[in-house]
Amino acid sequence: MTSQREVERLYEKLMHDVATKEFYTDIDLANKVNCYVCEECQHITKTKDVDPGVTPFMFTCEVCKATATSTFYTDIAQDCKPTIEWYRPSLKETLKLRKDQGTLDHVLRGGLIDRKCKEAKTSEKQLVFVLELNDTKAIYLDLDCLCDALKMEWESRPDSDIIEEEFKVYGKMMTAKEIDELPEFDGF
Ligand SMILES: [Zn+2]
Repeated sequence: MTSQREVERLYEKLMHDVATKEFYTDIDLANKVNCYVCEECQHITKTKDVDPGVTPFMFTCEVCKATATSTFYTDIAQDCKPTIEWYRPSLKETLKLRKDQGTLDHVLRGGLIDRKCKEAKTSEKQLVFVLELNDTKAIYLDLDCLCDALKMEWESRPDSDIIEEEFKVYGKMMTAKEIDELPEFDGF
């Protein structure tokens, strides 16, 4: 395994190159959009570079996980927004890559690594739990919260109040954006 000190030394050298060498300083990041075409399902995974650096020719299809190949920065999906971004990891992140020698070497030679774009992340759906009484709904992000809320609700009411009272409980898929936009809820 490459020593921590060696990674720090190479990373510092890389930072120097990124700041001074034309290979990095001459790149116009505004137009660094690439497309990876899946060999299996033909889906196009669209990416953008947010740092100057090297990206791989092969990638993994975001839909079926098969191999997808680069169009060499030709945008063949102009109506689609990139879902993946290529970025340069921080020194701290790079040190964590010591367990993965191939990726570590790639990064220290100026390579970028991938992560989901923020916008794409907020449109990803997650399971939430809905507690509904009459027309009032409350959304809980995990089952424990739902149970706590239900318990509190039932314990705080006189018995006569909850007889025959039907609470509806169900799961629902929501995006982070939809959850953010929910009106503040102040209980039943
Ligand atoms: Zn595919």
